[in-house]
Amino acid sequence: MPQHTRYTGLIEHYRSRLPVSPTTRIISLGEGNTPLIQLENIPRLIGKDVKIYVKFEGLNPTGSFKDRGMTMAVTKAVEQGSQAIICASTGNTSAAAAAYAVRAGIKAFVLIPEGKIALGKLAQTLMYDAKIIQINGNFDRGMALVKEVADLAPVTIVNSINPFRIEGQKTAAFEIIDELGFAPDYHCLPVGNAGNITAYWKGYKEYSTYAPGLPAVVRGRPIMCGYQAAGAAPFVEGAMVDNPETVATAIRIGHPQSWDLAWNVQKESGGWFDKFTDEQILAAQKMLSQHEGVFCEPASATSLAGALHDISTGKIPEGSTIVCTLTGNGIKDPDIAMQQCADAKPVTIDASLDAVKRAILDNM
Ligand SMILES: *Cc1c(COP(=O)(O)O)cnc(C)c1O
Repeated sequence: MPQHTRYTGLIEHYRSRLPVSPTTRIISLGEGNTPLIQLENIPRLIGKDVKIYVKFEGLNPTGSFKDRGMTMAVTKAVEQGSQAIICASTGNTSAAAAAYAVRAGIKAFVLIPEGKIALGKLAQTLMYDAKIIQINGNFDRGMALVKEVADLAPVTIVNSINPFRIEGQKTAAFEIIDELGFAPDYHCLPVGNAGNITAYWKGYKEYSTYAPGLPAVVRGRPIMCGYQAAGAAPFVEGAMVDNPETVATAIRIGHPQSWDLAWNVQKESGGWFDKFTDEQILAAQKMLSQHEGVFCEPASATSLAGALHDISTGKIPEGSTIVCTLTGNGIKDPDIAMQQCADAKPVTIDASLDAVKRAILDNM
């Protein structure tokens, strides 16, 4: 290994395991290599002997795990001569598509449900100069339209139905095994379109099978736990949901595109799906921020809400090692954060030393 290696993104890092050739022009913003943070205070608070790690994907370049898929999808789109990409999005895919398209010098068209995407996601997608098309319909409708229009216009779809998205996203599982030296017992994540749960499972399976240099006994395959918002829980209902509703807009999806693939993950891994209310999701988001200093967006906290529930019932037993994917950054959704903290308004005082001193001493 060279002494100094600048990290240049997940494609370079896991090149031999990804569908690129030596001449492929790689479109990267340095995504991946996100921290795996062990929770210290929450396990103590709940009084359980469990190791919980959070994979903080909110620290990717555009603030969500979508960057992992997008670096691969845009790299391949450019390699195949595409001049434009398109996606339907609940916000994060549009931000990632827009950023990687600019980087590559191609156009990005994004279809978003009007009024249903978080402010930060809209702002960043505008800044990245994408062509934003708002529809008065939900994500599922946007997705159907994108699939139809891609047959009529020269655009490459970069939703997770694009298999290169899954290839990029599987590297998150590689990173976890590289850091822990083994796979966790349980891997918990929020499920919307179900591309990510599919990608992690692919990653775990591939890496444990032929990763060189790993110890002989490697726990390569976790049990996969997919958690949904109660108002958008087709995997729990066992049927598509026509009018999904949840505060966690990133997973406000009723017709998941990776339906069969995700059921396969559940069966192969021995895992399960479950659903949690908006109140439970928001409580988990606040708990992470207020006890661990980790600020994720509402949808992301669904993974912790689920893990905590299943730990409390013993479905996830004590002694387990658990990884929760935190899919996106909390600052993406400032409106929800302000609502969460409506009772914690900043105090306003005189700009004097005495008043500042009093404000400190009164609150010690
Ligand atoms: C996209 C997204 C999800 C859902 O991932 P799927 O692959 O669609 O299941 C969850 N959380 C956040 C923050 C997302 O952006």
